[in-house]
Amino acid sequence: MRILHTIAEVRDFRRSQGQATLGLVPTMGFLHEGHLALVRQARAENESVAVSIYVNPKQFGPTEDLSRYPRDLARDLALLGEEGVDCVFIPDNEEMYPTDFQSGVVVKEITQPLEGARRPTHFEGVTTVVAKLFNIFQPTRAYFGQKDAQQVAVVRQMVRDLNFGLGIVVGPTVREADGLALSSRNKYLTVEQRATATVLHRALRSAEAHWQSGERDSDALRSTMRQLLEAEPLARVDYVSAADPATLGEYAGLIPPGAGALLSMAVFFDRTRLIDNVLLSGDATT
Ligand code: AMP
Repeated sequence: MRILHTIAEVRDFRRSQGQATLGLVPTMGFLHEGHLALVRQARAENESVAVSIYVNPKQFGPTEDLSRYPRDLARDLALLGEEGVDCVFIPDNEEMYPTDFQSGVVVKEITQPLEGARRPTHFEGVTTVVAKLFNIFQPTRAYFGQKDAQQVAVVRQMVRDLNFGLGIVVGPTVREADGLALSSRNKYLTVEQRATATVLHRALRSAEAHWQSGERDSDALRSTMRQLLEAEPLARVDYVSAADPATLGEYAGLIPPGAGALLSMAVFFDRTRLIDNVLLSGDATT
């Protein structure tokens, strides 16, 4: 497994691979089974697999957790070695954003609601770093998790709009046995918060059950989720949403017949902010 720190090294690696297909898994490290599931999928679908580990400062807001974001590079490299990854790219900030760096990739409408409304600089940071990684690696396919549903929608939009010649592959959300979505940020939770944090999944499952019984009132779906979340004293709701999966625009009242819905939420446990979602298919009861 090659461990590369510079863009020039990645370009050499890519050249040395000739025409081999390449799967890229961008991450911020502190790897868990959610990341590793994406790596395994990339391994199965490509001749070569690269993983990037970079805690991208541009996607953190000024009051967010950049400085305390968990890191364990030695463990990450051991895990990736076991998965048969060909190359790990670990750039530093100067390599990604030299002092005269001036550019940014902006995706407009689809970045406005949900996470974008609460984290106004987040998606420009994401699209800028992802565009750079796509240009640096020229991958055949790039792998992202459904856990970050809006990120997937934003990256797909960018790829369409700017004609990046690669496939975007989305892996399902990997969960703990009790339903909590795996996240590097789960490490911040106290024992009590960790026990309570299953409420995100419970709230999504409850709304999903209503959907499967035919509930199509978006207000009812949101209030089902909100009630369960608000019953937990340690949880503070940032938002709950029932949105059009294509535009991420919030539904008002009845969801049109045949349409699907993205149910999503962000919930604080003290300073730790967790997100989760479930994508409901419009075909479920039609
Ligand atoms: P991160 O390191 O948090 O930036 O995540 C890197 C990639 O892993 C992103 O595409 C995430 O959506 C994905 N990911 C994170 N958590 C999970 C999970 N629990 N299940 C599936 N994919 C995940």
